[in-house]
Amino acid sequence: MLAGFAAGARRTARLVLPPTCLSCNVPLAEDHALCGSCWARTPFLSPPWCMRLGRPFSFDLGEGALSPQAIASPPVFDRARAACAFSGPARDLVHGLKYADRAALARAMGRWMARAGAELLKDKPLVMPVPLHRTRLWQRRFNQAALLAREVARMSDVPLRLDALERVRATSRQVGLSARARAQNVRRAFRVSPDAAGLVAGRPVVIVDDVFTTGATVSACARVLKRSGATRVDVLTFALADADIPAG
Ligand SMILES: [Zn+2]
Repeated sequence: MLAGFAAGARRTARLVLPPTCLSCNVPLAEDHALCGSCWARTPFLSPPWCMRLGRPFSFDLGEGALSPQAIASPPVFDRARAACAFSGPARDLVHGLKYADRAALARAMGRWMARAGAELLKDKPLVMPVPLHRTRLWQRRFNQAALLAREVARMSDVPLRLDALERVRATSRQVGLSARARAQNVRRAFRVSPDAAGLVAGRPVVIVDDVFTTGATVSACARVLKRSGATRVDVLTFALADADIPAG
């Protein structure tokens, strides 16, 4: 009865409110999309990029080329990919995922992530979000990484494990911390849930989060997954901070 009412209300809202741009709200012909102007200003990332870190190169150095950062300090995870640089409309979408029409945003963001991460997803890895600690989950009521992971898994037809990673220690917010402080903050914060340990062993894994900043959080997750026997741990985020998109 109530479900029927909700569906009816949604249909009514759909008639009254035409689809709008996910970023600037101008009316559009289709749902879950950006207008032409916002699309053009969204800093989508594409190859050529560093094979390990997914940071764009200004020219093609050939398959498997590594950035100076990846050579100087090889990451714990195997490969990272992001759909966009963390600027312009991409930044608005990340912030909007916390407040606005989350389902519509997650659908579009997940679609772009699935495209950027196609090579990470092609051998059917287990997809799992970076977890929130339960006190933070209780305050916020939802985990935006989980919304994105669900869409990525659905788009790519790969298995989703929302509960495989657990945050066993509440950590301070990473915003405003130095790279070293971030790494220290998340040390021993995660574990593979006892139920999922058998599942992870011998399997490739893709960890999903909204923004890749220093990589401290996903590295802490990758460490426990590798310890549990994951054959490969890749990272897929919607946005990449300090991406230095090549001009032209
Ligand atoms: Zn727009």
